Amino acid sequence: MLPYGRQSIDESDILAVTEALRSDWLTTGPMVDKFEEAISLVAGGSQAVAVTSGTAALHTAYVAAGVQAGDEVVTTPLTFVATAATAAIAGAKIVFADVEASTGNLSIEAARCLITDRTRAITAVDYAGLPVDAEAFTRLAHEHGALFIEDAAHSVGSILNGSPVGEIADLTTFSFFPTKNLTTGEGGAVVSPDGRLATRARNFKGQGLVRDSNALRYPEEGPWHQEVHEFGINYRLPDILCALGLSQIGKLEQFKRRRQQIHNLYNEAFATNDELVIPGVMDEASPAWHLYPLRVPAERRRVIFDELRSRGFGVQVNYIPVYWHPVFEDLGYRRGMCPNAEAYYRQEISLPLFPGLTDGQVHQVIENVLDVVAS
Ligand SMILES: *Cc1c(COP(=O)(O)O)cnc(C)c1O
Repeated sequence: MLPYGRQSIDESDILAVTEALRSDWLTTGPMVDKFEEAISLVAGGSQAVAVTSGTAALHTAYVAAGVQAGDEVVTTPLTFVATAATAAIAGAKIVFADVEASTGNLSIEAARCLITDRTRAITAVDYAGLPVDAEAFTRLAHEHGALFIEDAAHSVGSILNGSPVGEIADLTTFSFFPTKNLTTGEGGAVVSPDGRLATRARNFKGQGLVRDSNALRYPEEGPWHQEVHEFGINYRLPDILCALGLSQIGKLEQFKRRRQQIHNLYNEAFATNDELVIPGVMDEASPAWHLYPLRVPAERRRVIFDELRSRGFGVQVNYIPVYWHPVFEDLGYRRGMCPNAEAYYRQEISLPLFPGLTDGQVHQVIENVLDVVAS
């Protein structure tokens, strides 16, 4: 089965991990700092905090943003459930705003209509790798005393209007799961241009421990001394995985280029087909495409999906609207709330997209999609 996404690992990655295993530090060592510096460089110079997954990054970002019981978080339903689940775990009530029909990204107008004085954060997702307008969302959030969080699990390496993802939003989260734009196996990061938010994120993922002598309440206690000021958790990414991430991040540009080439081949093949809708994009964007979300006629999506799977193409659907999950249904959320997201979901099929795909494989996908859609 040709999967919809997979990692690109080469000998230099394997060597990097082997070296980390032979070093003095398996975790809390120098590779963590190096990987965080490298993430910072691709995120417009924002401070970076490595964590154990994209889900951990979201949880850490919500805690750093001060989200707690009684707060509301406005977000998109067209995402992986973690975008909302982690805010709910932090105590927030989740408010779903609809997406733009062409891109699947959170609509800023829909979000604006749902802001209240309890809104603590707006969280948008760079769906498929296409960046949202972080500047506009950040302005909107700040006008209402809230913060803007960008779930950039799909879009590490993407750029909008010359700004790399991670430069503008109050907090941006990345995922380094194997299907994403670069991988550490499991892993993620929180980045922020605001040093105080980055420090809160760093403290939370490191069991709440404060070591900076300027920040200690009792600095005279002794050289061993560290203090907890706010409760934390252990979301530390070990050196072994940071070494892999550092090796991978050096290839991000090359990965991005290949993902764009494949996207272009799909677009050229499908743009003129009346039954198909290709992913929307804006001129200002330079996306590192994580997904190729093709839209097919909704009433035939299931048969097209099944037939492609039976022919050996590991297509996927991204995503079931988050509030359709029984956990939200049981809280009283009802279908029909965000019609654009539901329409997008009913038509969507993610085609194989990863740097290791050959042109031959891409053409096989194209031929089979066109054949199945026409039959
Ligand atoms: C993958 C993903 C996550 C979660 O990342 P993990 O590393 O799998 O925990 C969160 N949000 C979105 C949009 C994702 O695609």
